[in-house]
Amino acid sequence: MSNIPLDVAAAEEHLMRFLSVEGVTGQEKNIGLAVCDALKKIGVPESAIRFDDVHTRIPLPTETGNLIVDIPGTRPGPRLLFSTHLDTVPLCAGAKPRREGDRIVSDGTTALGGDARTGVALLVVVAEILIKNKLPHPPITLLFTVREESGLHGARELDPANLGGAVMCINVDGQMASDLIIGAVGQENWEVEITGRASHAGVAPEKGISATMVGALALAEARRAGWFGKVVKPDGRGTSNVGIFGGKDNKPAGDATNVVTDYAYIKGEARSPESVFATKIADGYSQAFAKAKAEVTADNGDTAEVKFSQIASYPPFELGKDTPVVKRATKALKMLDIEPVFVFSNGGLDANWLDKHGVPTITIGAGQAEIHTIKEYVNLKEYEKGCRLGVLMATLED
Ligand SMILES: [Zn+2]
Repeated sequence: MSNIPLDVAAAEEHLMRFLSVEGVTGQEKNIGLAVCDALKKIGVPESAIRFDDVHTRIPLPTETGNLIVDIPGTRPGPRLLFSTHLDTVPLCAGAKPRREGDRIVSDGTTALGGDARTGVALLVVVAEILIKNKLPHPPITLLFTVREESGLHGARELDPANLGGAVMCINVDGQMASDLIIGAVGQENWEVEITGRASHAGVAPEKGISATMVGALALAEARRAGWFGKVVKPDGRGTSNVGIFGGKDNKPAGDATNVVTDYAYIKGEARSPESVFATKIADGYSQAFAKAKAEVTADNGDTAEVKFSQIASYPPFELGKDTPVVKRATKALKMLDIEPVFVFSNGGLDANWLDKHGVPTITIGAGQAEIHTIKEYVNLKEYEKGCRLGVLMATLED
């Protein structure tokens, strides 16, 4: 599709500029303002640009709300939503982006932030192309979320009424332009506090109740019962992990070899394409802890106190191939001579929540690579393809 009026140099300039503005998760004010500036320069009226109040509902300190921009349609049609996230992982702090051939790289001491500044730039590029070339398009809302990297909060806590009745969403937060993320697992988090009883480990070990031993036996039991790591059961599949095994206040479980450990804290997660099965995996851990509790007793028969809790973190979703947004993306990719690859993600995305809010959301890629590492880079060829895909998604007739 050579007739997409993409100015590659201008698109790369936007990306370079946004990569150079620090904005780690929770601190999105400056990048939000940089995007506002860029939008005004390309002719978006100030009255069309606003921040919502999502940060007042996010349970973590957050500088600003989601940035939302309404672009009136130049032809009638149902409203489209384009989304991405403003924040980067903390490893991106101080990133110094630099071009190296077909890539943008960091100096090797930080991550880069192409996740998801490629998306941020892409949304601005699409708006610029639509406005500059007066391309026919339906009404469009741009959504730049906050705190994606620390719990999908901007998308989770937003008020769906702010999305202007959009019927579908194109979320930009992926790697290859060919990859269409049409679904993702859901996640359940679990944690357990084990309160045992301290006793001198040399003089009277039988009077103690080892919290560490309860934890160890429980984890061994959870693994034995098939709930650890890759989980495949007749009624579902998923994954789980034990992330933290420690004590109070980020200290170790126990602090001396001669004391029976009286407290341990363990935290983990469970993921599955079906939320009921993610819950079931967490239930498996719960039962394992109950069993281990009964096994570890003091000489008088007392057992530890085990407080297990589990909470849904984000819901899973999956779009059918005949969903309008999937059809639209497939059609656009074919016009670019790119064979679509349908992807089901093993991690949550803003798309999980946008879909939950009633807007079927596909996630496309625009060149981010090796994300969350100091080797992160942007693949400019993929970024360019992503920009073209974005313009087609915005302008296609149904
Ligand atoms: Zn991302």
